[in-house]
Amino acid sequence: MTPCQLSAVPAAPRPVRRRLRSLAAALLLGAGLGPMLVSCETVPISGRSQLILMSPGDEARLGLQAYQDILKKERVSTDPEKTALVARVGARIAAATGRTDFQWEFRLIDNDRMVNAFCLPGGKVAVYTGILPITRDEAGLAAVIGHEIAHATARHGAERMSQGLLVQAGLAAGAIAAGTSGRDAGTTQAMLAALGAGATLGVILPFSRLQETEADRLGLTYMARAGYDPRAARDLWVRMGEASAKLGRSTPEWMSTHPANASRIRDIEAMLPEALAIYKPR
Ligand SMILES: [Zn+2]
Repeated sequence: MTPCQLSAVPAAPRPVRRRLRSLAAALLLGAGLGPMLVSCETVPISGRSQLILMSPGDEARLGLQAYQDILKKERVSTDPEKTALVARVGARIAAATGRTDFQWEFRLIDNDRMVNAFCLPGGKVAVYTGILPITRDEAGLAAVIGHEIAHATARHGAERMSQGLLVQAGLAAGAIAAGTSGRDAGTTQAMLAALGAGATLGVILPFSRLQETEADRLGLTYMARAGYDPRAARDLWVRMGEASAKLGRSTPEWMSTHPANASRIRDIEAMLPEALAIYKPR
């Protein structure tokens, strides 16, 4: 097993890493979470070691809080066909993860201008109607949902918070050190952004390249296990790239945090044999 490390800053000198850890610790304590839990976890499928400073229970509670906040602000779609599509694809991907401890929920949010989708810790999934023209069919949607669910099962949000790399985290830690409350709006928003609902909250905060590649790999596996042709993921990213190029500077949420560039598509092609080996069409 590889040593537990802060993957986003592998080359950081030891004092810097210590400082980052203490920032993350202060942030979590300031948000009323505790007691501190420092653990070395292993990502499913990829087997990578990661440092996580919060319990899955705390993570799921924050995920639920963010989800409820977002649903209060957004309009949930009442389109029976599209809602059923999201629920059907979501349930198949969720079953493929084997995570029966997650409280799975899938919502289609009626907003054609938002090209977005996310899964928060604990299994709270939202898809915006604006992404459906690009996902196009059921397998394309499975690629997006598979990728997003992979971020949650791999605990990328908690890992990101644990890394304490958010500017806001540093500010919050400073505020805590100065004796002021750490649970201000900025801190909460930064934490929720770290968990994966960032674009929706107006905070664009991409996952690291390593986490993106890992989510692609896990997502392909989930697709294949769920009976969706994993090659549809490559086609989705090609369409995403075309849509992104067409939109130019006004690139919307999901595309700005998920660049559909040539290297991503090449990486996915290289991962396809692994996924195709377990793929059984339904
Ligand atoms: Zn991603």
